[in-house]
Amino acid sequence: MIDKHGRNISYLRISLTDKCNLRCRYCMPEEGVCKRDHREMMTEEELITVVNVAASLGITKIRLTGGEPLVKRNIVSICRKVAAVEGIKEVCLTTNGILLPQLANDLREAGVSRLNLSLDTLDPEKYAHITRIGKLEDFNAGLKAALEAGFRKIKINAVLIGGFNDDEIEALANLTMQYPVDMRFIELMPIQDHDEFGEAAYVPYSKVLEKLPQAVPVEKDGGVAKLYRLPGALGNIGLISPINAHFCGECNRIRLTADGKLKPCLHGAEEYSIKGLDFDGIKAVFEEAIWNKPAWHGDLDILHRSRAGRNMNEIGG
Ligand code: SAM
Repeated sequence: MIDKHGRNISYLRISLTDKCNLRCRYCMPEEGVCKRDHREMMTEEELITVVNVAASLGITKIRLTGGEPLVKRNIVSICRKVAAVEGIKEVCLTTNGILLPQLANDLREAGVSRLNLSLDTLDPEKYAHITRIGKLEDFNAGLKAALEAGFRKIKINAVLIGGFNDDEIEALANLTMQYPVDMRFIELMPIQDHDEFGEAAYVPYSKVLEKLPQAVPVEKDGGVAKLYRLPGALGNIGLISPINAHFCGECNRIRLTADGKLKPCLHGAEEYSIKGLDFDGIKAVFEEAIWNKPAWHGDLDILHRSRAGRNMNEIGG
């Protein structure tokens, strides 16, 4: 599936739910999500049809995200069915990790290839602050469970927030000395109304390199992160810069929200509904959405906020 700008779209990110067991300040409101009629949301059967359509059009990689994908009652069944779709080579999950002690073994057995875990700080008080309700010990138990279940190439994602965790760049990067994981720093994106984050919170990715002068560049692995490595480390440091060095020219993604809207661009207002359509109907909408994927996300900074029209928990990141 080639879009009108010549990009080959091979990666579908599916948000399974808007709900989450944390309330990260940059992601969702404190009160959680508005209760929605379950008939508005994609069913397991509809999701599997979408994945079959996507695979028939050339999608090879699926990421399941949210909200928090692991709060979905039928998460293991969804993973198993997605992994079984012909043409799907990778099924990845992005999770806060809290429910991994209960689920890691089942997810691995169901065919999940890789996990991305979210962790912004190593300080229990700061973790409780940024997640509003989380406990760092629960994340730690989740990481341990993922490693024990045999997951490899785990990526830990931290949103880089000036004045909050830029003093922990070295400590977070040092996780790659301790565990076989990649540690990735993602620039904070101005989406919806996170008024509490002023200009100083929007730190460029170059700040990470200033703090890690010993890091050496490593060849990219096909993803969007610029890669570095600390001498003697077991994993890489990844820098993801949607703001200061956007990678729209190499974007190979399309997103599906939990209420069945295809979003060709994370920060664009355009959405294409596929809820209630059959295989051929979904296919036609996919083709239209991909063809119309914008060349780039447009200006994105504190003055030009995302035009996504949704909080990140309603898109999937
Ligand atoms: N609940 C899961 C988790 O915690 O990873 C998956 C959903 S979460 C929306 C996916 C990713 O989006 C997380 O790594 C999160 O840190 C990131 N994210 C959310 N809001 C963001 C923002 N405003 N800027 C940058 N990254 C953000």
